[in-house]
Amino acid sequence: MNQNIQREVSDAGIAILTFDRPDSTANLFDQRTLDELNEHLDFLESEKTLRGLILRTAKEKIFIAGADLHTFTQEISAERIAAVIERGQKTFDRIASLPYPTVAAIHGVALGGGFEIALACDYRVASSDSVTKVGLPEINLGILPAWGGSTRLPKLIGLPNALTAIMNGRQYPAAQALKFGMIDSIVPRERLTTAATKLILQSSGKKRSSKMHLSNRPPLFQVIKSQAEKKAQARTRGHYPAPLKALEVACASLNVSHEQSLANEKNRFIELALSETAQNLIGVFFLQERSKKLKLPKEFELEPGGPLKTVSRAVVVGAGLMGAGIAQWLSSRGIRVILKDVGPEPLGKGIQSIAKIYSEAVKRHLFSETDARNAFDRILPTFEEVPFRDVDLIIEAAIEKIDLKQQIFVHLESKVPADLVIASNTSALSIDAIAASMEHPERVVGIHFFNPVHRMQLVEIVRATKTNAATLNAAIRFVKQIGKLPVLVKDSPGFLVNRILLPYMVEAVRLFAEGYRVENIDRVMLDFGMPMGPLRLTDEVGLDVSVHVAKELESRVQNLGPMDNTLGKMISKGWLGRKSGKGFYDHDSGDDGKVNHQLGDLQPAEPTTANEGDLRDRLVLSMVNEAARTLEEKVVDAPEDVDFGMIMGTGWAPFRGGPLRFADHLGIATVVSRLNNLRDRVALYFTPCPLLADMANRGATFYPPKEAISPIASHPNPETGKVDERNA
Ligand code: NAD
Repeated sequence: MNQNIQREVSDAGIAILTFDRPDSTANLFDQRTLDELNEHLDFLESEKTLRGLILRTAKEKIFIAGADLHTFTQEISAERIAAVIERGQKTFDRIASLPYPTVAAIHGVALGGGFEIALACDYRVASSDSVTKVGLPEINLGILPAWGGSTRLPKLIGLPNALTAIMNGRQYPAAQALKFGMIDSIVPRERLTTAATKLILQSSGKKRSSKMHLSNRPPLFQVIKSQAEKKAQARTRGHYPAPLKALEVACASLNVSHEQSLANEKNRFIELALSETAQNLIGVFFLQERSKKLKLPKEFELEPGGPLKTVSRAVVVGAGLMGAGIAQWLSSRGIRVILKDVGPEPLGKGIQSIAKIYSEAVKRHLFSETDARNAFDRILPTFEEVPFRDVDLIIEAAIEKIDLKQQIFVHLESKVPADLVIASNTSALSIDAIAASMEHPERVVGIHFFNPVHRMQLVEIVRATKTNAATLNAAIRFVKQIGKLPVLVKDSPGFLVNRILLPYMVEAVRLFAEGYRVENIDRVMLDFGMPMGPLRLTDEVGLDVSVHVAKELESRVQNLGPMDNTLGKMISKGWLGRKSGKGFYDHDSGDDGKVNHQLGDLQPAEPTTANEGDLRDRLVLSMVNEAARTLEEKVVDAPEDVDFGMIMGTGWAPFRGGPLRFADHLGIATVVSRLNNLRDRVALYFTPCPLLADMANRGATFYPPKEAISPIASHPNPETGKVDERNA
C-alpha cells in the first residue's frame, strides 16, 4: 500500500521522515497520516543508535498544509473533536520528547498542524523558495491552533509576536518568519537536508535549551495582553470569538503546565469548532476549494488532451487602474505581458502603479528584489501597434464604453488567429454586445477581475450566448494558472457580484437622501459584519464610477427602484470620493476620514431617527432578495456560487456564510415576511422575488439542513451575529 510518510536512516545515523501523500500535490494530517507517524515514532523511540530526526516533504509547494478539515465538519461532536485534538497533541509531544535533536526542513507551505509539528521540533530550517510560508491560520476558520501551537509559539518567539501570528492568522514568507524567530535559518531548497544534518551534528546530541523571553514576564506580559485584547475587540466587533479565546490560551500557556495548556487548547477548540461561526468559516474554505476544482457543465466539457495550453504570453489592452493591475499580476505569475494603451501618458501612469505594487510587495517580503525586478521586466509597455506573434490570450481593460470596446474587439480579431481567446474585463457591459460585430464571437469571454487585482482572489468568468467550450475551458484554465479563484456566471447585467451589490449601494444612497446619517448607515453594516459601510464603499469605488455603473444597469436590472440624483449633485461639486479627497467622507481629515460636514444641503434638516432594525433590513435584505434572483435567473448554478462570489468579491460577512446561507439561518419565511413588510411600508421594489416566496411556502432552504450540533456550541444570534455567552 502507498505510504504517506517514507522513512530512511542516513549514513550519519539520522532518521529522515519524508511526507509524500500519494496521488496528491499536498500533504495533510488525516487519520491515516497520524497513524503512520505514530508507527514511525515507535521505531524512533526504540532505536537507540539514532542521532537525530529530520522531517521533510517531497512535494513541490507544500510541506504540510495542516489538518484535514473534513474532520471538523462531518458528523461532529465534542467527543469526536476531543479525540482528534488529543491524538495530534500526543503525537507531537512524542516528537518533542525524542531524546535527540529534531529538525523540520521546511519547503513549501507549513500551515496550521503543518507548522505545529515543526514547532514540536528543536529547530526549523526553511527553503529560500518563494513558495515557502509558515503560519497558524486557524483563526481564519473560527478555531485556534490546538495541536500545541498556542502553547509552544509564545515560548519560542515571545508573546507579542506570537499573538500577532496566532490572532491574525497570517502566513509568513521565510524572510519574515526568520525575523520573528519562527524559523532558525534559510537555505536554498537543494541544501535543506544538508543544513538540517549539519545542525544535528553540531548540537552533539543535545536538545535545544529554551530561553525565557523578556516580554513573557510580568509586568510587560499584562500590558501586551490587554493591548491585544482591545485590538481584537475593535477588529472583530464581537463577531469572531476565536481571537479572544486564542489570546486567553496563549497568555495562560506562560503560567500553567504544558499539559494544562494543551487541555486549554483542546477545550477552547471544541467550543469554537462547534459554533455556527466556525462552521460557516470552514464552509468558506471549502467553497474556495470548490472553486479551485471548478468544473463546467457537461455540454462544455472538452475531450481529454484537447487544445488547452498554459498561457505564457498575453496582451493587456488598457493600462489604467485595472489593466495595470492585471499586467502586474500576470507578470508576477511568470507570464510575459504586452501592455497596450493609447499614448505615453496613460502608459507611464500604469507602469508607475505597477512599480509601486512591486515595491510594496518587496517591503512586505512577498518578493525578493530580484524576483520583483525580473517580474517587472516581463512587461513590455507599448502605445504602438502590438506584435501579436506567439500571444496566447488577450485581455481588454479599456474604458467602459460599448462602442470603443466593439471597435477594439473587431480590430483585434483582424490581427490574430481565429481561435485566439479575447477576453473583456468589463464590469457592466454585455459580453454579447461587445462581440456583436465580430466574425468569431465564440472566442469572446468575460474575465472579470476585481479591484485591487493583487488583493482580490475572485474572478468572474462570464459566459456569453456564443462563447464556445474551448474558450470557456481556456478561460478557466488561465484563471487557475494565475492562482485566482473562478466563479462561472452567465452574461447578464452586472454579472453576479455587482448585480447583488448594486441594489444595496443604491439603497444606502436613498437612505441618506431620506435623512439617515452617514455614520448610522455605515455603522449598521459594519456591525452586521461587512468590511466597510456602503457609503464608504461608494467613496472608494468613486461616485462617478458608481453612477456610471448604476446608469448602465438601471434599465437592465429590474426591481432596482427609482434612483435619486444625490450622487449627481455631489459629483457636480467635484466630490468623487477618495480620489478627489471628498465624497460622503472627507478623506483629507485623517486616516479613516471623518464624515464630510458639507453634506447638509443634500439631506432634510431633521435627521431621520435611526431605526436600526429597519436600516439593516433595507440594506441586507436588498442583497438577499437580489442574490435569490441571480439563482432564479440562472446567472449562476448553485447557492454556493452566490455565497462564494459575495464573500470573495465584497468581503460579505464571511462568518455568516454568505447572503443565501444567512437567509437560511434567519429562516426564508422570516426573510419573506420582512420583505413584505418593507414593501407595504417603504416601497414596492422590496417585493420578495418569486423564488423566495415559493421557498417560504414550501418551507424550503437553499442548503440541505445540517444535523443539529452539540448543545455546548455557542450559537451566534443570527441578526447581531454576536455570541450569546450564556449558551457558550
Ligand atoms: P481606467 O479609466 O483607469 O483605464 C482605462 C484605460 O484604457 C486608460 O488608460 C485609457 O487610456 C485606456 N484606453 C482607452 N482607449 C483605449 C484603446 N483604444 N486602446 C487601449 N487602451 C485604451 O479604467 P479601469 O478602471 O481600469 O477600467 C477598465 C475596465 O475594467 C472597464 O471595462 C471597467 O468596467 C473594468 N473594471 C473596472 C473596475 C474598477 O474597480 N475600476 C473593476 C473591475 C472591472
